[in-house]
Amino acid sequence: MDTGYEQRVAATRAILERIAAEFSPAVFASSLAAEDMVLTDLILRAKLPIRIFSLETGRLHAETLGMLDRVREAYGYEIALYKPEAAAVEAYVSANGLNAFYDSVEMRKECCRIRKVEPLNRALAGNKAWITGQRRAQSTTRAELAVQEDDPAHGMQKFNPLADWSEDDVWNYLRANGVPYNPLHDKGYPSIGCEPCTRAVQQGEDIRAGRWWWESPDQKECGLHVVTDADGTTRLVRASVKANAPEGSVK
Ligand code: SF4
Repeated sequence: MDTGYEQRVAATRAILERIAAEFSPAVFASSLAAEDMVLTDLILRAKLPIRIFSLETGRLHAETLGMLDRVREAYGYEIALYKPEAAAVEAYVSANGLNAFYDSVEMRKECCRIRKVEPLNRALAGNKAWITGQRRAQSTTRAELAVQEDDPAHGMQKFNPLADWSEDDVWNYLRANGVPYNPLHDKGYPSIGCEPCTRAVQQGEDIRAGRWWWESPDQKECGLHVVTDADGTTRLVRASVKANAPEGSVK
């Protein structure tokens, strides 16, 4: 465990306390993956007044949904769920088919818009800040991630308290504190999204190579985390990051 680990944990605690004190009401958008379980543990152990929610897209793995029970059992906390509008899902499926997201980037983004982006907008409404578990080292699209950034699209601040955490930091924290985590992480899934759009990765592959694997790397965001330039245009940040986990493990 490198010497900076304890400092990063302490700094993250301090950021969360500052968010609770200065940006209330604030919410944490949890995907129930490893990074998000670190933040869940930090928030709930400290009893910070930060509401935790998750986007229940209707296409999640059973293991991911099972994390809702694990959190309830471990912390006595009920994560709020935001689901897509049933009419929008029905219209998309009846017009395009259940798995039309494989057909084109546009069809995939439209599915993500219906199942993720619109519910996210509902979940964020009325808050002053939101929190994510994104890390810079996760992907080609997150290399320039800031701990705190303006989110003009939602009219609030956005915090990424784990921006400078390594994958080892995340797993050190989970193990040291006995935090429950999604069992898919033990099966080669470093990044977990919807079931039909996520697969396991091999050693040396990009950490998010298993997400929308049929698309080019610079397309791999669902619309929840775009960067907005000063002129109001949106873009994704690009870089190249490889997984360094031993074969058969993603931790
Ligand atoms: S990740 Fe796949 S199934 Fe989930 S909302 Fe996006 S396109 Fe649809």
